[in-house]
Amino acid sequence: MNRSDDRAVTGVPHGRVWLVGAGPGDPELITLKAVRVLGLADVILLDDLANSALLMHAGPRARVIRVGKRGGCRSTPQAFITRLMLREASRGRQVVRLKGGDPSVFGRAAEEIDACRRAGIAYEIVPGITSASAAAAALGTPLTDRDHARGVAFVTGHPQPDGPEPDWAALAASGLTLVVYMGLSRAHSIADALMAAGRPASLPVAVLERVGLPQERVLQTTLADLAGTLRGQGVQSPALLVIGEAFGAESSADRQATVPAATSMPAHRLIG
Ligand code: SAH
Repeated sequence: MNRSDDRAVTGVPHGRVWLVGAGPGDPELITLKAVRVLGLADVILLDDLANSALLMHAGPRARVIRVGKRGGCRSTPQAFITRLMLREASRGRQVVRLKGGDPSVFGRAAEEIDACRRAGIAYEIVPGITSASAAAAALGTPLTDRDHARGVAFVTGHPQPDGPEPDWAALAASGLTLVVYMGLSRAHSIADALMAAGRPASLPVAVLERVGLPQERVLQTTLADLAGTLRGQGVQSPALLVIGEAFGAESSADRQATVPAATSMPAHRLIG
């Protein structure tokens, strides 16, 4: 439903909260719907992982509020963001919460949705491309495949302080590709837990730092060498760990070598 539809029903504008996926960083990796919604926003709450280049899609009246913690700013408390979001929407404004990747993957969307429900404020999720999908693209290797990985698990490496750990033993036994978000600070213990559960020390791990951004770095290592690689290469957040047989340096080098350079094949030739 758009702004004018809302007005038509009641005669007054209705505010709405839009939880919008900004994609992994590359400004081309955003949906057409997200672009449309940015254009109708009165207020944009910009997450630190969302590329601010996307503000080119904002309409002229949009007020932009940065609620991120990177770049030397202090983190904006979640409670403050939620209050601001509800206040603006209850005044009839279109509030866009622009979040990195997909808002429904480790995007803290649940808290914001609960708050909207409790306050009786309409909300809508506009999906985005999660960083795991951008990682697969950067590696030239699918997250699932019929031979090696019949599925994929998105796991947090940084559970809530009192929350349960992911069940690393069950994940190790699952044979799924593991994509670990927020895993840098606990990479050592994650690798140990997977090895203790029987995964080989030589199991490939791809580390993707700032995937989809000009500073993107891709490193390929193993469970045994993971912590040393992260330390030695000074890997910084945001970064993903992609763990599975298919992510060895050799297999992805083979794949990349057989993929024609993107620039040599115009997009229309790929269709049909
Ligand atoms: N909603 C986001 C995830 C937010 S949680 C998504 O769908 O991608 C934050 C974590 O996401 C980071 O710690 C990192 O592990 C991962 N991440 C997000 N953007 C990234 C990027 N451009 N490169 C590498 N990792 C990224």
